[in-house]
Amino acid sequence: MLIDEVLVKKLEEIEDPGELMAELFRQFGNRAAIGTSGQWSGVALIDMVIRAGITKPNVYTVDTLRLFPETYDLMRELERRYTIKIKKAVPDFNAVSKMVRDHGEMIFFNSKAKQEYCCKIRKVDPNNRILNTLDVWITGVRADQSNSRSQVKRVDIVTHMEENGMERPLLKVTPLINWTEEDVKDYAKKHRVPTHKLLEIERDGWHYASLGCIICTTPIGPHESRRAGRWRWFNYALNDDHKECGLHLPRKYE
Ligand code: SF4
Repeated sequence: MLIDEVLVKKLEEIEDPGELMAELFRQFGNRAAIGTSGQWSGVALIDMVIRAGITKPNVYTVDTLRLFPETYDLMRELERRYTIKIKKAVPDFNAVSKMVRDHGEMIFFNSKAKQEYCCKIRKVDPNNRILNTLDVWITGVRADQSNSRSQVKRVDIVTHMEENGMERPLLKVTPLINWTEEDVKDYAKKHRVPTHKLLEIERDGWHYASLGCIICTTPIGPHESRRAGRWRWFNYALNDDHKECGLHLPRKYE
């Protein structure tokens, strides 16, 4: 299947997120996959595509080996509920060992560069190894998550670099880009989609708005920005746009 602007235009005409994903799975089979960390949009995507008739969608998650126990519980619950298998992309053992040997276990407190290095080893590289097997990467990114995410297109052609350094086009699809968090929550409630338990807890206005690894994620207060709870120790210097692990910063394919 040729990945070009003609295809993008055709796909953009499919308004319903479930139908859009179903069309992608029909055209690309297991060369398409939903990548989810178990947050509101990701779980809704799984429900939507199954309702649209794809009973065994290709779904994966990046398991940094430092996730919340509730995240692992949710993945098991999703597998049971939808009778699917969620692939786990894990970090390379030797790369993690080298990182810990060179910099220690808590590398991410030291500097932004070291946090990005840890995210590369534990998240970005495992995700890239999955992308090596794909032509279509479906994600739950939404425009209301940050300014940088509001620039993301619903259907886009981005650059994927294989391990041998060769670059090729990859279709990146964000079916819920224009949905708000409330829209997705309403959908999950209406369709009784299994959701992440931590996202449902709220105490005196404090709640989790975004989830990652245990140590690098805290709840946010009533007047804090969405990603203030991620790598909180950098808040004095960085705004939400610079609080990314690197997964969603692909280059446009030209
Ligand atoms: S979120 Fe923290 S522990 Fe997880 S990969 Fe990034 S820096 Fe490492």
